[in-house]
Amino acid sequence: MTVAHNLGFPRIGARRELKFALENYWRGEIDQATLEQLAASLRAQHWQQQAEAGLDLIPVNDFSFYDHILDHSALLGCVPPRFEHEGGDVRLDTYFRMARGRAPHGKPTTACEMTKWFDTNYHYIVPELYPQVEFEISSRKLFNEVVEAKNIGYNIKPVIPGPLTWLWLGKIKQGNFNKLDLLDKLIPVYGEILNRLNKLGVEWVQIDEPILALDLPQEWKQAFEKTYNLLQSSPVKILLATYFGALEDNLKYAVSLPVAGLHVDAVRAPHELTTIIDQLPAYKILSIGIVDGRNIWRTDLQKVLSTLETAQTHLADRLWVAPSCSLIHVPVDLAQEDKLDDEIKSWLAFALQKTDEISLFKKALTDGRQSVETELDKSAACNQARRQSSIVHQDTVTQRLNSVTEKMTERNSPYQQRSRLQRKQFNLPVYPTTTIGSFPQTNEIRKIRHAFKQNKITAKKYTEFIQKEINSVIKKQESLGLDVLVHGEPERNDMVEYFGELLSGFVFTHFGWVQSYGSRCVKPPIIFGDIARTKPMTIEWSRYAQSCTEKPMKGMLTGPVTILNWSFVRDDQPRSETCKQIALALRDEVNDLEQAGIKMIQIDEAALREGLPLRQKDWGKYLDWAVKSFRLTASGVKDKTQIHTHMCYSEFNDIIESIAAMDADVITIETSRSDMELLDVFEDFQYPNEIGPGVYDIHSPNIPDVAQIVELMQKAATRIPAERLWINPDCGLKTRGWPEVEAALKNMVAAAEVMRQQSLATSSALP
Ligand code: GLN
Ligand code: ZN
Repeated sequence: MTVAHNLGFPRIGARRELKFALENYWRGEIDQATLEQLAASLRAQHWQQQAEAGLDLIPVNDFSFYDHILDHSALLGCVPPRFEHEGGDVRLDTYFRMARGRAPHGKPTTACEMTKWFDTNYHYIVPELYPQVEFEISSRKLFNEVVEAKNIGYNIKPVIPGPLTWLWLGKIKQGNFNKLDLLDKLIPVYGEILNRLNKLGVEWVQIDEPILALDLPQEWKQAFEKTYNLLQSSPVKILLATYFGALEDNLKYAVSLPVAGLHVDAVRAPHELTTIIDQLPAYKILSIGIVDGRNIWRTDLQKVLSTLETAQTHLADRLWVAPSCSLIHVPVDLAQEDKLDDEIKSWLAFALQKTDEISLFKKALTDGRQSVETELDKSAACNQARRQSSIVHQDTVTQRLNSVTEKMTERNSPYQQRSRLQRKQFNLPVYPTTTIGSFPQTNEIRKIRHAFKQNKITAKKYTEFIQKEINSVIKKQESLGLDVLVHGEPERNDMVEYFGELLSGFVFTHFGWVQSYGSRCVKPPIIFGDIARTKPMTIEWSRYAQSCTEKPMKGMLTGPVTILNWSFVRDDQPRSETCKQIALALRDEVNDLEQAGIKMIQIDEAALREGLPLRQKDWGKYLDWAVKSFRLTASGVKDKTQIHTHMCYSEFNDIIESIAAMDADVITIETSRSDMELLDVFEDFQYPNEIGPGVYDIHSPNIPDVAQIVELMQKAATRIPAERLWINPDCGLKTRGWPEVEAALKNMVAAAEVMRQQSLATSSALP
């Protein structure tokens, strides 16, 4: 019989209960026992909901107090020495210190690195690997949760990260060795873990190996064979789960590994299904991940059911049905969204609704289509309505999109010519100073914005308040002596939400939270329809800001690629099309800013790199349309209007040509934490335009002193000609406090002065 199961359920809670409990615990307001109790009740609730939905196998150990990769490092006893783990079980506070550097008990210690989980917006804690690491089961969490679920009476399937994925994600912190060398020590511990699970009565264990969707070196492919051959003797059945992409060159390895079952992502890679079914050994079950775990749309039940029926004719009882990946990447429950437009709501499915879909497939496959006829009809009607809905499609948007020409993505003249005009117009000193856009968002600002949204204060009062705030940050910047000013973004809650709310085609949920890292969640906007600008979005604020000062004021926008990458996007047209629509809408804003007398316009592309596909062969296509979209936004202006862009990273080595192809006149990037090492790329690649490498790490409360900044800039000047360098912080300042910001910027301006004196001295020393 077909088995309906799930790979993982959101752990944060429908109302972010876990977030609030964690933060209370970290602040010392509740004790560990209270936190554990809350966690247990959330787990029980999530298991119950999935059981009630009709799932046959319910995931366990998908819960985490911070991150499942960190849980696994703790399980394996892989705790870096600086945390002084004294053996035995890793304490909860040690665990939190690894995640965030501090906990209610134990001394503050540098946290482990955190980084993006594949191409999602979830972040995991990077395992630290060193040659002398010894693995030993050092946490009871997995086993306790198994017992907990079994005691309630559920049919469960524990989930753990696979040894190869865990190693791949780890980072060598000491010595120089091949990570695969650790396998020999690692596999026996996995063997022990599986044995213990077996003793607890577990039949199936899901082992996640999503790296099978990546480009893997040959020795890693071979390591898969070795590892799973060794684990073959384990008494439990292994479901090897892959997701996030096609298996491609890894397909033959994945299919033939000696495990009892394989899970594949049939949403991202539907084209591989036939081959997989063909090649799957006859003893193996196939779990087809057919409900999209990465997006919020209702599944097209009819279409998917046809796919599954075909699979069933080949697989018979060996067919399992699941979401494509864990559901932690979608919000919990659509039913909570009582303010959402009913029509749009009927097109959506969050985690709970997705579990219903999965069990519906099982019913259809077991009892026949007629047993779910009503649901199928309803789904067909919904899909039909969505395809034809007048709120989705706007002819004017289609027409405009069709009229985009290559020329619209090009500035009138090349940078060299533009820069001459710009230099003349702005007459800036060498090493001009600026900031990235936002200034500290005080409680007062947040309160007023909130009150305005709730209609508790008038538009007039709100405007006056924001203008006062803008004026005050301008005065501060002037007295600090900055050369290029910003308005400070007090009117923005979030760099994507602000624009999404003013564009057509977006909706916002109330509880659509998705875990980003630890207790941090994001609420991505939903792009459901054609995007157009309904009215100017930033013009009045920027115009006002420019009227307060003689200095150049940067207009400030979030770029099309970033808006796209930080939203749930429509699945009825390519991402590139949606991006182009956003780009056109923003292009109007850029042009209007110019009309309003704004001479510098910054278009932030904080998330451009995030959108890179998992496989390198797909990068070119993505970068091509992403860069084009940026250029479409930016290129409608005159040569003398200066376009800036900003990116919150500078790991550009592999995409530097695309960054240059964006053709922004100035780019500001993050570099201070790496001591400008990230600029090494500019030794081989002559970046043609101007760059502001960040000199102030805004993620830290530390204030850089003048000498430090000078040293950083001197390093930068060895790679990029001085006349093309700017001086600025790493990113926006909205999360910092005023005293530190003022002190840091004061030092930054003083450092610019030192740099200018030095460059005067060298140029006058020339013959
Ligand atoms: N302009 C934005 C700010 O200063 C940029 C933020 C970002 O890059 N994440 O806040
Ligand atoms: Zn940034």
